Amino acid sequence: MSSKVSPSRPLRRESVESWHLETDVLIVGLGAAGASAAITARDAGAEVVVVEAASAGGGTTALAGGQIYFGGGTPTQKACGIEDRLEDMFQYLMLASGPSADEARVREYVDNNLAHFDWLVEQGLEFKPEYVKAKLNNTHGDEGLIYSGNETCYPYDEQARPAPRGHKGKAKGEGGGALLMDTLIASAERKGAWVLYEARALTSIVDEQGRVVGLVVRIDGEERCIHARGGVVLCAGGFIMNREMLAQHAPRLLLSNFPLGNPNDTGMGIRIGQGAGGCAINMHEGFVSLPFYPPSCMVEGILVNGKGQRVVAEDVYHGRLGEEMFAAPDEKFYMVIDSRNFEAMEKPPLGGYSVAAVGETIEELEAELALPPGMLAHTLAFFNEHAAAGQDPLFHKRPPYLKPLDQPPYAAFDFSMGGGAWFPAFTFGGLDTSLDGEVLNAEGEAIAGLFAAGRTTCGLPRWGAGYASGMSIGDATYFGRKAGAAAAGC
Ligand SMILES: Cc1cc2nc3c(=O)[nH]c(=O)nc-3n(C[C@H](O)[C@H](O)[C@H](O)COP(=O)(O)OP(=O)(O)OC[C@H]3O[C@@H](n4cnc5c(N)ncnc54)[C@H](O)[C@@H]3O)c2cc1C
Repeated sequence: MSSKVSPSRPLRRESVESWHLETDVLIVGLGAAGASAAITARDAGAEVVVVEAASAGGGTTALAGGQIYFGGGTPTQKACGIEDRLEDMFQYLMLASGPSADEARVREYVDNNLAHFDWLVEQGLEFKPEYVKAKLNNTHGDEGLIYSGNETCYPYDEQARPAPRGHKGKAKGEGGGALLMDTLIASAERKGAWVLYEARALTSIVDEQGRVVGLVVRIDGEERCIHARGGVVLCAGGFIMNREMLAQHAPRLLLSNFPLGNPNDTGMGIRIGQGAGGCAINMHEGFVSLPFYPPSCMVEGILVNGKGQRVVAEDVYHGRLGEEMFAAPDEKFYMVIDSRNFEAMEKPPLGGYSVAAVGETIEELEAELALPPGMLAHTLAFFNEHAAAGQDPLFHKRPPYLKPLDQPPYAAFDFSMGGGAWFPAFTFGGLDTSLDGEVLNAEGEAIAGLFAAGRTTCGLPRWGAGYASGMSIGDATYFGRKAGAAAAGC
């Protein structure tokens, strides 16, 4: 069998000599989506087998900071005295989803997100009801709530009342994803899902009607056939580790020097789904970033290009700022600060960027950076005049980070691609699915027996320029549950 096995060539059922295993629901991948699907399918009474290529579960989710996007009045928000409305969360997520927004999906997630919060708590996840106001990627301690996107930034704040919606389980620092996965895997195992580790799904098995009835899986070096009576659920993550797929579908993500994912983010779930007739959409999109804060004082600086001109409101989420560099990879970018924030030069920054120049005056800094004479001084004078009046007529940067930079000396950090900073990225494109997780073909028809969730699908996160932390894990866990339920026949 092995020479012919390819994700783009499903095995015909009549070629199956014997089933290695039979189950109701067969899930590929034990990350956030797969574990959520397994729990829900078990709760529905289905027999569940999960095949996981790695020797342990967790996937990329276990590497993540663990922010989950919840709002509209969660118990954590209420305990922190934060007011939020589902309608504001809906408006915000529609803006965050950009030109490819899927309104029905956003509505489905928002309307059910409070019940989904409760579901995660039922699985054993605890959220500490403490809100940290500073501009952060994640809480440093085990506090449960931060702003995790562009909610307080122009134009979002004018169209949706801002509220912090980034929720993290009670783990320190970046440990939120690992805690989430420990919790979900323990719940799945308690409920009786059977996990086969070091078992890699290779292709689907289809019957004469084109229904997916199982998978070919490599176990102990052998290709084995597993029968799924109810359905197969593809939850194998995205494709940031597959350079050929990136070159084919999302070439700008090849510019990243920091692929955010686990080694199995090779797009196998997407390719198996495509092989069975599924349509992949939005494949060019992804999250790109320059994690330039903390320190949060960096947000008070001005970001200029090689012409000495500002390019963005510097109080935006790091993904929005990173988009500027990915859009102009050959351009120079510098973050300019004044002496009030010079302590930023003493601490290693999160994003790995370095000091490009220091100048006693802005003219000296400009010369050090080889910018066109007079441009940076002009940019700064214009910025300072308006910032002193609490305004930013060009980009609408908001207080509290809108402050005149009028305390020389000045310093500039190199934010250019190739300048030493980290530019993380992961993919958003994937299989087109119904809200119940059925994989759809190019005509929008469901492929019988085939379901998917998480980064194997094009889910809630659809636009790098608007992305907020938490949208991916929120999507993977919620729509993982939906796919698990549908495969179990609910
Ligand atoms: C450092 C970092 C920080 C992040 N922070 C956040 C955050 O705070 N909030 C947020 O929302 N998102 C965050 N993300 C993104 C987010 O973690 C992922 O997009 C999301 O967790 C993906 O979940 P998943 O279930 O789709 O995939 P995964 O969690 O990657 O699970 C997929 C599983 O499938 C397995 N697999 C793959 N191929 C096969 C195969 N052929 N056969 C069998 N098994 C297979 C993999 O081994 C893996 O275990 C972060 C990512 C990183 C790397």
